[in-house]
Amino acid sequence: LEPKEEFEHSSLAVDVMRPRRSDPALAVLTQEGMTVGEVETLVESTHYSGFPVVVSQESQRLVGFVLRRDLLISIGQNHILICVSHFNVNPQLPSDNAPEAPPPLRLRGIMDLSPFTVTDHTPMDITVDIFRKLGLRQCLVTHNGRLLGIITKKDILKHMAQIANRDPDSILFN
Ligand code: ADP
Repeated sequence: LEPKEEFEHSSLAVDVMRPRRSDPALAVLTQEGMTVGEVETLVESTHYSGFPVVVSQESQRLVGFVLRRDLLISIGQNHILICVSHFNVNPQLPSDNAPEAPPPLRLRGIMDLSPFTVTDHTPMDITVDIFRKLGLRQCLVTHNGRLLGIITKKDILKHMAQIANRDPDSILFN
């Protein structure tokens, strides 16, 4: 996103954000109650660089954003902890104890608590300006406080290229 390129087009954040209507839903984590196994399944079944964290699937209230890389490190550390604790378990203990619930993954230490957000109706020229000025890689899109989608830097570049191909008069690169 070169600062000298002016982006002037009437598109809105909602036109650029993912998921598109035909795409699978946004892959999110919930603030509480997800086990390490559930997080691992989500991370392994997708290729996204990061995941928004919401209060609950029903509310879709945004809490933060976690990078895939940090989740993978955290999951790895959790596996080591689990192995160590299994190793220490005394085999003589009575086995009628209820099996322990799978441990939840702690997101607190790795979550960005103030990810950048725009609303669905934010004009893209403003969003592009924010990306440039803050050096963002992604930004979340909300409507009335509910998480709707995500825009990455690559999504913006693709969108600009599409507009330039389709409609060369409405965009000014100077
Ligand atoms: P990039 O856009 O640089 O390839 P990602 O791999 O994170 O970055 O995203 C790939 C595509 O998936 C982008 O179009 C992005 O908007 C979308 N995306 C990113 N994160 C998520 C997510 N958690 N759930 C659904 N879609 C996502």
